[in-house]
Amino acid sequence: MQQFVDLIFPIPLDNRFTYSISSEEADFLQLGMRVAAPFGKTKIYTGIVAHMHTSPPEIYEAKPIHQILDEKPLLSENQLKFWKWIASYYLCTEGDVMRAALPGAFMLESESIVSLNKSSEINESELSDEQFLVVEALESQSSMKIQEIEALLDKKRVLPIINVLVDKNLINLNQEIYEQFKAKESRYVQLNPLYEAEAEMHRLLDELSNAPKQREIVMAYFSQTAGKKKKIKAKKLMKAASASSSILKSLIEKNVFQEIYEEIGRVGFEGEITNPEINLNKIQQEAFNKIKSEFNQDQVCLLHGVTSSGKTEIYIRLIEEAVNKGKQALYLLPEIALTTQLIKRLQNYFGDKVLVYHSKYSVNERVEVYRHVLQNSEKGKIIIGARSCIFLPFQDLGLIVIDEEHESTYKQYDPAPRYQARDSAVVLAALFKANVIMGSATPSLESYYNALHNKYTLVELSKRFGNVLMPEVEVVDIKVAHRKKKMTGHFSERLMQGIKESLDENEQIILFQNRRGFSPILECNTCGHSPQCPNCDVSLTYHSGNNQLRCHYCGYHIAMQLSCMACGSNEISTKGFGTEQVETEIKALFPEVNVGRMDQDTTRGKYSYEKIIEAFENQETQILIGTQMLTKGLDFRNVGLVGIMNADNLLNFPDFRAHERSFQLMLQVAGRSGRTQKRGKVLIQTYNPHHQIIQQVSVGDYKNMYKEQAEDRYQYQYPPYFRLIRLTLKCRDYSKTNEAADWLARALENVFGRYVLGPEFPPVSRIRNEYYKNIMIKIPQKQSLGKTKEVVRKILNTFNAIGAFRSVRVIPNVDPQ
Ligand code: ADP
Ligand code: ZN
Ligand code: ZN
Repeated sequence: MQQFVDLIFPIPLDNRFTYSISSEEADFLQLGMRVAAPFGKTKIYTGIVAHMHTSPPEIYEAKPIHQILDEKPLLSENQLKFWKWIASYYLCTEGDVMRAALPGAFMLESESIVSLNKSSEINESELSDEQFLVVEALESQSSMKIQEIEALLDKKRVLPIINVLVDKNLINLNQEIYEQFKAKESRYVQLNPLYEAEAEMHRLLDELSNAPKQREIVMAYFSQTAGKKKKIKAKKLMKAASASSSILKSLIEKNVFQEIYEEIGRVGFEGEITNPEINLNKIQQEAFNKIKSEFNQDQVCLLHGVTSSGKTEIYIRLIEEAVNKGKQALYLLPEIALTTQLIKRLQNYFGDKVLVYHSKYSVNERVEVYRHVLQNSEKGKIIIGARSCIFLPFQDLGLIVIDEEHESTYKQYDPAPRYQARDSAVVLAALFKANVIMGSATPSLESYYNALHNKYTLVELSKRFGNVLMPEVEVVDIKVAHRKKKMTGHFSERLMQGIKESLDENEQIILFQNRRGFSPILECNTCGHSPQCPNCDVSLTYHSGNNQLRCHYCGYHIAMQLSCMACGSNEISTKGFGTEQVETEIKALFPEVNVGRMDQDTTRGKYSYEKIIEAFENQETQILIGTQMLTKGLDFRNVGLVGIMNADNLLNFPDFRAHERSFQLMLQVAGRSGRTQKRGKVLIQTYNPHHQIIQQVSVGDYKNMYKEQAEDRYQYQYPPYFRLIRLTLKCRDYSKTNEAADWLARALENVFGRYVLGPEFPPVSRIRNEYYKNIMIKIPQKQSLGKTKEVVRKILNTFNAIGAFRSVRVIPNVDPQ
């Protein structure tokens, strides 16, 4: 009987596509394997086998596939089920999911571009004639399209050849899209073993007695390594001896010290496993026991633990248990760039069982991690990474940890699939009967609601580890301070005093200024005009670094204007303030202090995060100014004061989650302070000292915040009580956008009545010359989510069939954040 396969292609078309296969192919093929198949007149795509059957398609004649690309499946049936769930829940296609799930190197297609991997060595004898021809051609041209290779080899079926070359690491696929991830190196020094003998060492010290600075380094080395003479970071040694790098250099030249370079933060781990034993304290142990017994009943646990209570230690112990049972574990993080500290902690404990999956890694490195997970190998039993890790091809997943579960970066915003990795991970875990622990010091209302309604189990840690006190929070009323003329720029007298005190105590300081909506803009004092982006509906923001006015949405920029573009007046000033202003002001106020700044502008380059964090860790900078990036799980030992420059613009942000987010942000930044014995201090500057959120932050009262916010959400019909689906229409034509939005809203209202809101222009309604308009659908709890989406899908299909609206795109976003 004729056999067929249904394929998923990495394209945003709603269907699977049916192809015919021979009986030999049918014997060989398994679900989850890739095949190359012709698509349209000229294209060839890689498809994933999602279904095998014997019923021919009804409306078209199935074409035969070109070729099978894999010997073994690239994903399991669980993954296929998971893809299907994501596509149906988040209103996208399985093709969208495929694009997000597979590293680019797995998606060969006729339009793919290949280039030679310059860092690999080519062994001609290992190549077939055809492979050799391709490599040779690529040596003279920088890149080729698959179609060109077809011409070169004079055959249609070249994908298997390319596939082998990709596997051998000889060529790169679509490389220009990806930034090559380069390992970062750390410099260590170690005493020449020659001097390990007592006598030699004394001889050396005598010899150095007329070079006291060099002698000091050697002495510092002994004390720093506690006589063990192991390698030590060069930086650390110089600091301990207060010596410059030139003095260390002369010792290296004399061969007293040897230099060692080690890579950090690469795929895999080559350091030493220190495997420090974790002895949970009583509260931690109780939490741990409770989680384990809940796990036995397949319950998802929400760990609500204050900052620095030891949540991470508990995660590590849970991972250990899973791995000891031979299971795979996944550690999800909101953002990987900021977590070198955590990765180090896990690697110290688990060694190279831990692999990091990182979007900044090259395609080949990602493929390497993918394969380790696919083969369920020892290396990579524990995967740590951001949201896209949920798509790795787990074979025997036992545990998912979702750290900082409240973070909105777990939601993919663009492109489709617009999935929420935290919520999807719960579904993924269920497919594997794996356990889930999600944790936060400030849980999302959604997860906390689930915990209170027995969907999850709540486990609490209400004390910091080692009896460290929660920081003391003080609210500074800047309205009063302004009136009494006690402000210097954006600094209240109280904050200035706090900074001085901390500096005197040799403690470090974090100043937090949030990013959203608070960049400085230029405004004319005469006519009120501020320069706008020609492509987007926003004012340009002022960047003093390069003296430019820039658009944050499309990158458009012009030189700073000296007179008003509308009326010509030269009475113009900048309004609002961002981190850059804070930096300028603080440098003027404390000229002798080293200041670091961490925000989107300073962290563009490679390792820029790491550099800023390292400088602060090593106490090369005393004051660190930053945006929300600072809130993400960083553990600095010496921070005595956290200053929140302005709490109000957080609170006033026009979004139903603004209050929840403000609470989370402020409590998380506050948590960076006082992580050692001395109690830390937090100063919050605000115009509204009596705002309930500020009050709740100042006493760390999560439960009350939850209660009040949940009441509001109930009353105004928002999550967790109502589900939301947002439909965004997008088009270059203004009136077409309006027309289409009206049509769609009316069609939806016919079914959902008053639960349809809009259409409405978002705050920024034009970006890159495209107009945006939103429609929101609210779904009450008693209404079936599945049925609702079915209806939405049908209405969207009808919409897409209307010729007049062909230029309008509709983007569904389920559970928008
Ligand atoms: P959280 O993840 O809740 O913010 P961490 O796990 O980072 O807290 O713990 C805060 C600090 O306390 C870390 O430096 C950690 O090493 C230390 N710590 C927590 N629990 C223990 C423990 N049981 N034994 C030793 N150190 C611990
Ligand atoms: Zn003007
Ligand atoms: Zn713009």
